[in-house]
Amino acid sequence: MKLPYAEDTLREMELWPFLALQQQSLMQSNAPAPGAETSPPGRQAGPPRRDVRPSPPRAAAPAVSNLVAADPVRAARVTQLDWDGLKIEAAACQACGLCTQRKQAVLGVGAIDAPWLFIGEGPGSEEDDQGEPFVGPAGKLLDAMLAATGLQRGREVYITNVVKCRPPGNRNPSVDEALACAPLLDRQIDLIQPKLIVALGKIALMRLTGSEASMASMRGKLHEYRGIPVIATYHPAYLLRNLPDKLKAWEDLMLAKRSMAGR
Ligand code: URA
Repeated sequence: MKLPYAEDTLREMELWPFLALQQQSLMQSNAPAPGAETSPPGRQAGPPRRDVRPSPPRAAAPAVSNLVAADPVRAARVTQLDWDGLKIEAAACQACGLCTQRKQAVLGVGAIDAPWLFIGEGPGSEEDDQGEPFVGPAGKLLDAMLAATGLQRGREVYITNVVKCRPPGNRNPSVDEALACAPLLDRQIDLIQPKLIVALGKIALMRLTGSEASMASMRGKLHEYRGIPVIATYHPAYLLRNLPDKLKAWEDLMLAKRSMAGR
């Protein structure tokens, strides 16, 4: 059976162990539904039907409104900043408690006019040391995910996080911390004007959609933030602990790629 995806993209994310699952689900989707009309015995089945992919369903409007800036005066000032101003703002930021333990703020990395924007949660210890997002083990998997999508860090991709300073002990950033950092992320999005955002994990997804719904229920749909389509997938650190879900992440990336194709 021919898989609908290039084999090298599977290799990038070390998805070979999960190919069996992929083939199984393809066979199930091609099998006639119980009770469906089948060719009478002895009669040749017609040519296989073309796999017509429906466009992904659009998500309903978020039930919870997106974050409103904690300090509207600062938020208004940040909307006027250019990239140099944004770097200075992040480096000097004291809008939440994360500033007390950071080595440095980690604003983001990549092309500032990138069509793709990937958003994670917050820097970990290696990111705090090096000043670049996703440079630890999760970053290696993110790079493989980018390669599987035909992308490369530093080229047509910008990578950032919901919060720019490391939450101690690698805990999740709190809603208040995400709120304090919101003007920086929003300004990055406005400056980059990406064609598509990929939300890596629940924290980024909550930040962008305002919804606390499960990742399972939010995947496979186009969401929207500031007029830009958002696709949700699992955080690479989660995928390192839950290997079978890599296959779902890869499907999400293929959906992202298809969505991007028409833009
Ligand atoms: N996890 C994240 O969400 N972001 C990073 O930069 C690194 C790990």
